[in-house]
Amino acid sequence: MKSSRRAFLKATGASSLSIMLGGSYSLRALAQSQDAMAQHEYAGWEDFHRNQWAWDKKTRGAHLINCTGACPHFVYSKDGVVMREEQSKDMAPMPGIPEYNPRGCNKGECAVDYQYGPHRIKYPLIRVGARGEGKWRRASWDEALELIADKIVDTIKNEAPDCISVFSPVPAVAPLSFSAGHRFAHLIGAHTHTFFDWYGDHPTGQTQTCGVQGDTCETADWFNSKFIVLWGANPAITRIPDAHYLSEAALNGTKIVSIAPDYNASSIKADQWIHPKPGTDAALGMAMAHVIIKEKLFDVHNVKEQTDLPYLVRKDNQRFLREADVVSGGSPNKFYAWDIKTGKAVIMKGCWGDEPEQKAPPVAFLGRNTNTFPKGYIDLGELDPALDGTYKVALKDGKTIDVQPVFDILKPRIMNDHTPDKAAMVTGVPAKVIVQLAREFASAKPAMIVSGGGTNHWYYSDVLLRVFHLLTALTGSEGRNGGGVNHYIGQWKPVFVPGVMALSFPQGPAKQRFCQTTIWTYIHAEANDDMLKSGIDTNKYLRDAIATRQMPNYPRDFRDPKVFIVYRGNWLNQAKGQKYVLRNLWPKLDLIVDINIRMDSTALYSDVVLPSAHWYEKLDLNVTEEHTMINMTEPAIKPMWESKTDWQIFLDLSKKVEAAALRKNFTKFNDEQLMWNRDLSTLWNQMTNDGKLANDEDAAQFILDSAPQSKGITLQMLREKGPQRFKSNWTSPMKEGIPYTPFQNYTVDKKPWPTLTGRQQFYLDHDTFFAMGLELPTYKAPIEADKYPLRFNTPHSRYAIHSTFKDNVLMLRLQRGGPSVEMAPADAEARGISDNDWVELWNDHGRVICRVKVRQGEQVGRATMWHTPELYMDLIEGSTQSVCPVRISPTHLVGNYGHLVFRPNYYGPGGTQRDTRVEVKRYTGATPMSL
Ligand code: SF4
Repeated sequence: MKSSRRAFLKATGASSLSIMLGGSYSLRALAQSQDAMAQHEYAGWEDFHRNQWAWDKKTRGAHLINCTGACPHFVYSKDGVVMREEQSKDMAPMPGIPEYNPRGCNKGECAVDYQYGPHRIKYPLIRVGARGEGKWRRASWDEALELIADKIVDTIKNEAPDCISVFSPVPAVAPLSFSAGHRFAHLIGAHTHTFFDWYGDHPTGQTQTCGVQGDTCETADWFNSKFIVLWGANPAITRIPDAHYLSEAALNGTKIVSIAPDYNASSIKADQWIHPKPGTDAALGMAMAHVIIKEKLFDVHNVKEQTDLPYLVRKDNQRFLREADVVSGGSPNKFYAWDIKTGKAVIMKGCWGDEPEQKAPPVAFLGRNTNTFPKGYIDLGELDPALDGTYKVALKDGKTIDVQPVFDILKPRIMNDHTPDKAAMVTGVPAKVIVQLAREFASAKPAMIVSGGGTNHWYYSDVLLRVFHLLTALTGSEGRNGGGVNHYIGQWKPVFVPGVMALSFPQGPAKQRFCQTTIWTYIHAEANDDMLKSGIDTNKYLRDAIATRQMPNYPRDFRDPKVFIVYRGNWLNQAKGQKYVLRNLWPKLDLIVDINIRMDSTALYSDVVLPSAHWYEKLDLNVTEEHTMINMTEPAIKPMWESKTDWQIFLDLSKKVEAAALRKNFTKFNDEQLMWNRDLSTLWNQMTNDGKLANDEDAAQFILDSAPQSKGITLQMLREKGPQRFKSNWTSPMKEGIPYTPFQNYTVDKKPWPTLTGRQQFYLDHDTFFAMGLELPTYKAPIEADKYPLRFNTPHSRYAIHSTFKDNVLMLRLQRGGPSVEMAPADAEARGISDNDWVELWNDHGRVICRVKVRQGEQVGRATMWHTPELYMDLIEGSTQSVCPVRISPTHLVGNYGHLVFRPNYYGPGGTQRDTRVEVKRYTGATPMSL
């Protein structure tokens, strides 16, 4: 049987294997074919099955979605039809560590369904009905691009370039595609958006403590741990290709503890399940710190050398004692500890004000680059800093003041306020369990915390992460293979970030307008949440942060955004405050463009939709934080229908902008803010470096060549030899045969941490942190701004990667066929709700109407909905984001404090949806299908 591309498409359109096989005997024959003892009369049947697995072309493939898997695949095609994908199984193993191979998941193996499925966008489309109405007409590429180009030029001419907004997430999974629109935005003066913070994935507390955007061990390093705490993380569902390391570690003797309110798929595999009340994790962590300190289970030398806990704080104003306080002309960024041996205050080496002889260039993911400090720079040597006590210090004005180490402030708070008994009252976890957990965590060497969305999506998630870091700092497990805080949310780590920056921003990041998406949405969607009910004046903090330029606000001068281009992302579906977005932000936008492979929720609510090539129809790179290999995808077939690669779409758009600018006699303009005389008439040449980057392959190789982490690796090597390991990494060296774990530049090489204090920094002596009571790690109860009884929980699903694959039929067959909200039996019963009823779930921000699943594993007082079903799915109204407001934590707005500065996806306000509260009742309106 010869399958042609056309016949295949016809057959998949009919969506019936039995039609292809023909006849009513198909099931009987299929059953026979699986019976080894049966006599097989129908040889043609067997040929069909054999032919199904035959191919004439094998290419490299990857899934360029917001997934941290980065699983290398082979893609098999026959007669120009992609037949299937399979894990490539050629990642180099590390001695003594279980392999990454084979690496994949249920969803990824459905990737081809989006290539040939009904959701595929085939042609450029222009909206003819209302936004979201679903009425379109087919357009030519010329017509669609000219419409967009005209609007872009008009907006620059009549408004300002920063009224044009370009959003695309996660460069790690498809850096070439990502760079296409970012380079275009860079060259016309548009602003680009942050995404990592906006999604709630940014580990803000790690940036506060460690001065890094976020760094984590590759998952093979889990095997090196002796004690793993899965804290708000559920890898059996959310990290499917890596979950095997938990089982292998357990077989190797590692104890695994799952801390999660519900008995989830990872809790089942753990040795111990601890289930605090939602949002009380920091109380549990602080009580663990209590036990570790009280029982002297902490690593004193590590605390003195690697943290700011010995740094001196003035008792008169609670600020660090600074050199500028003591010495005329002294630095405000050099800090002291009290040396027990000499009885003197001494400046600690490696603080922000301490410069290396050879200054290192800034890097996007660190507060500062300390790589050029000599090894051993922060080694204590003979110094023995005090952790306790009060000391007298003479200031430069002659006054004598009392000072005390940070630890001396923190310790009594932990001893008094965070006893296991008090934590038991807050968390519901028995005190003796907390004590046992703390002792085991402190004595296992090394112990690690694997954290996830369950702990990072809270309003006070930053301080919770600081508590995690406190535990690993006390026990000295940071920077050790098998230890430390390891945060896995979002595909946030493009290890070769200098290469992505070089292609995206050819004139450098200083010449790029970076918009902070949470702030942009909060302002332009007028999504103001009344946090005043919780005593926090968000608007005041936000106004201050913008006025003092701690945080950006685009377009400048509070103008409205006019053009919004979204590509490689489902912005609307992920938008918290969705009701406000559709009501207030959408009407401000004259033009919404979506570039996509499929008709998702954002595409449906756009004005122009452009078809982009599927992951198996284009070339791109693919990396993750979960392993350290670069992986690629390449065209198995040409882009189908009229689709094009993202790189080619933006090159074509640049040609159309050139023409529009000439037509409108507006080719040159002076972009005063960025001191850039721009020329739209040569845009294509600027996009392609005068033609040198005109094809996708050259542009992808440019990324590899432009980053020290990947220089020397070629596309040909990736194609022929398979995934290649990075040459270097962010905060630790890459060592052959050893899994990457972060922070060894500081803990082993003993260079300063990239923070203000040059150490893991727990004391943040900034007005906002004081005002919020967050100057030190502590427990803050979830905010209660929504006066509704049930906490709303929106975790990631086993059957989708965010909204991708959410509507996949194969995946839906493994569930209930559509989205549902999960409730505990007691909560359902109290409301007269039965399993599979339609229910209405609401709060002041919006409403969702969907089915209910009554689940024993759900905790009473909580309603769970796997996050972000598409708006067109089996919901009568809304989706998860309808009831989640945009809430901004003031501490995330601090941008004038050493390592706490705004940089895109490095520091800024993020998503806080877990504090949301809702009520649920039985829905009595009309339903699509009566039961
Ligand atoms: S969807 Fe993600 S985890 Fe699954 S196979 Fe693809 S890359 Fe791997």
